[in-house]
Amino acid sequence: MPGLYIVATPIGNLGDISARASTTLASAAVIAAEDTRVTAKLLSHLGLRVPMTPYHDHSDERARAALVARMEQEIVVLVSDAGTPLVSDPGYKLVRDARAAGRHVTTLPGPCAAIAAITLSGLPSDRFLFAGFLPNKAKARADTLTEFAGLRATLIFYESGPRLSASLAAMADVLGDRDAAVAREISKMFEECVTGSLTQLSARYADAPPKGEIVVIVGPPGEIMAEEADDDTLDAALRAAMNDKPVAQAAKAVARRFGRDRHDVYARALTLKDQG
Ligand code: SAM
Repeated sequence: MPGLYIVATPIGNLGDISARASTTLASAAVIAAEDTRVTAKLLSHLGLRVPMTPYHDHSDERARAALVARMEQEIVVLVSDAGTPLVSDPGYKLVRDARAAGRHVTTLPGPCAAIAAITLSGLPSDRFLFAGFLPNKAKARADTLTEFAGLRATLIFYESGPRLSASLAAMADVLGDRDAAVAREISKMFEECVTGSLTQLSARYADAPPKGEIVVIVGPPGEIMAEEADDDTLDAALRAAMNDKPVAQAAKAVARRFGRDRHDVYARALTLKDQG
């Protein structure tokens, strides 16, 4: 049936391509690929020769419109370099426009680093938030983490080796020193999953940034935090946060972390600041 076929591809081990994904790739009129050189390697592994065209969400509108037009009569396959398209990868606008044009849209589920990592981590998996890549700059990173701090959910981040230690330290600072896991090179020769608290993990990677592809999993805030945050604990957390943040930001982060009212915590922060 003509339409758009979203096809997940391996995140390491090429053996993870599904039989249905191979058949669908083989029957495509065109493969819209994030990087045609990367997809060419997969096609060659499968012994396939299929026309490809580069596709990004910032590809120009005409390129996207041309693909949507072709879907009326032909099979158009969307792939990214690895894993599930649209997950920190291009494709959202193509799917949006295909739907708007009334095209048949289907997905062939498969590998996804975020999901693979949470299964490895041993951290609660009943409720999680996929947070993608954190911003590079320290302030934007802290602001983003602050948004997640009050969530009773496991958090999943994509990371890179050089940023890993600093990101883990920023997470400990804003989220509290939670249980976490660093999953690396999943489904490849050097797959590993290291667990520990955020500060332990940050220290471990400070002098030796790891190579390869990385997912960080951070457990939800412990029950202790919400229940046992007495006033002394709250004051200590506020003082620590005010060391490197303006009062309002410190209060916001601490309120989220301990599940307290933001205005009350802000008032307390001002009192502590006056006390010096
Ligand atoms: N769409 C992909 C998916 O479904 O997982 C993710 C694409 S995103 C641009 C690439 C990031 O995913 C990497 O920087 C890394 O954080 C993570 N990743 C991809 N493959 C991985 C692997 N084999 N092991 C660990 N993390 C991986």
